Amino acid sequence: MDETETPAAPYCGRFAPSPTGPLHAGSLLSAICSYLEARRHTGRWLVRIDDIDPPRQLPGASDAILRSLDAHGLQPDAAVTFQSSRREQHLAALAELQAEGHLFDCGCSRSDLRAHGRPGPNGPLYPGTCRNGLPPGRQPRTLRLRVNQESDSFDDQFQGPIRTCLAETIGDFIVRRTDGLPSYHLAAAVDDGAGDISHVVRGHDLLWCTPPQRLIQRHLGLTSPLYAHLPVLVDTRGYKLSKQQGAAPLDDRQPGENLWLALQRLQQSPPADLRRASVDTLWQWAKTHWQPERLRGLARVTETDGPA
Ligand code: GLU
Repeated sequence: MDETETPAAPYCGRFAPSPTGPLHAGSLLSAICSYLEARRHTGRWLVRIDDIDPPRQLPGASDAILRSLDAHGLQPDAAVTFQSSRREQHLAALAELQAEGHLFDCGCSRSDLRAHGRPGPNGPLYPGTCRNGLPPGRQPRTLRLRVNQESDSFDDQFQGPIRTCLAETIGDFIVRRTDGLPSYHLAAAVDDGAGDISHVVRGHDLLWCTPPQRLIQRHLGLTSPLYAHLPVLVDTRGYKLSKQQGAAPLDDRQPGENLWLALQRLQQSPPADLRRASVDTLWQWAKTHWQPERLRGLARVTETDGPA
């Protein structure tokens, strides 16, 4: 593993689930991988609940996630934090970006974007309609961050060197949503850049989110953490397991079995006789045998990558 980019700050990782449903086998991979990386560096591991999207949240999901983590032996090294309690910092960041001229009011709806945006790898690229002022008769709906010809390059610990031209991959992106709430990019950039997080380990499906989040951090003078994007777990049809797609919740009554399977999917080849082992035994094995380089270049792993 290339450690040349490791910042001087002590290692601190995090797992940041959104409370849109209980943990499933896919989110367990991110939790375990971020935890084992923190342990490998004798660093700290934190849990942050990303509860900034009330319309998508499920009542009771935060508690269910925390219970599940606990059942799987994943205890954070400090009190769990909730993104919703950082609203003031998020709003202050928006005000700073606005004062520095990085934002503009946008009156476009999603269907405007679908109709007029050039297709990009992550959805339609913003066509620039409101970039130089709202066209007459348009009401502001969102705040967007102006993306010029910025390119971004960083070394992803698992995916290798990443180089992006933001105008071609993201375009001007939303930092304050129609309902007035800070967007995921804004909140994640501010909270990950606040100083304590040194490393972000998360799913490959979020790789495209890193350049815009790093851009926000640059504009705000925050230090970007280092990033590692691990493969996402897909079903046999190739679809990512997700709460929205109704992935089955983890069965907290069989945490050892779940951990064993997750380690298998993370390419660690745990011994077959540990399959019925206790959570403690599995963690002992995982901490001493963890080989993150086995994840290099992998974007996805399939549910059936487990045992026959
Ligand atoms: N809260 C996001 C999710 O559950 C992940 C955020 C992140 O790791 O940056 O998809």
